[in-house]
Amino acid sequence: MGCIFGIDIGGTEIKIGKFKGRELVLKTSIKTDTSAGGRYVLPDLFRKIDELSKGEKIAGIGVGIPGPVFKGIVNGAQNLGWGRVEAEALIRERYPEARVRVLNDANAAAIGEMAAGSASKFKNFVFVTLGTGIGGGVVIDGEVLEGENGAGGEIGHMQIANDGKRLCNCGRHDCFERYASATGLVITAKELSEGRKTRLHQTGFSAKSIFDLAKEGDEVALEAVDKMVEALAVTLANIGAVLNPEAFIIGGGVSKVGTFLLDKLSKKFREVCFFALKETEFALASLGNDAGIYGAAHVAGK
Ligand SMILES: [Zn+2]
Repeated sequence: MGCIFGIDIGGTEIKIGKFKGRELVLKTSIKTDTSAGGRYVLPDLFRKIDELSKGEKIAGIGVGIPGPVFKGIVNGAQNLGWGRVEAEALIRERYPEARVRVLNDANAAAIGEMAAGSASKFKNFVFVTLGTGIGGGVVIDGEVLEGENGAGGEIGHMQIANDGKRLCNCGRHDCFERYASATGLVITAKELSEGRKTRLHQTGFSAKSIFDLAKEGDEVALEAVDKMVEALAVTLANIGAVLNPEAFIIGGGVSKVGTFLLDKLSKKFREVCFFALKETEFALASLGNDAGIYGAAHVAGK
């Protein structure tokens, strides 16, 4: 039957999972060498795959990439130094016997949660990763939506304000992730704390300190969290009005806050959403950093 590799290429490390059937039998990682326009990324990966598969048949290789991907072609991945790279074709050339799939990393994580995590009972859902930015994966009838140029599900770049105050890494202003990611939360808390009494002046402004103090009832921290939750709830309600998913699955570093965030979010969502969306479920992602390797292996093993 052969083994399947599920791979998650990030800007600092490449996570590699080796699967037998659906079972993860080995997990490791190598550093991402982003020098020289990222030209060593794939050769380094190939060397590691060869080392891990010695003599074994490779049935599938799935790879998640931090950038838009359409039909296996990477449409720019700044964290890797990549422009347009025909990644799937390059990997298939090296491993012609294997079933090769290349997809966006958030999409891979969404598929991973469906294959082995907390989205296992859903076929229609939106996966939302809350970290320094916001990523998204839209799954419809069990298939991820890539869109025409691989930008499908890039919910972090929905524009949710119109005052030009918060510049986004994408070059535009007022994107969703400038308000509802860890970065957005910190910006909001700094704005709110000016001239006001809050323990944030002592602890410093990080997403963790803001959530910790909000739980303890610090007024400014709580207000910042509520503003973040409102931005999340309204934007997910808008997404809901287009897709009417069964559920929103919340992952990424910020989701470690857990039920404190999830309860606030689902409550606010029900207040602001179109009435027919009130039954939409909310769940925390369960695979953490491994979601991407599970998802990549799943699409390569189908
Ligand atoms: Zn943006």
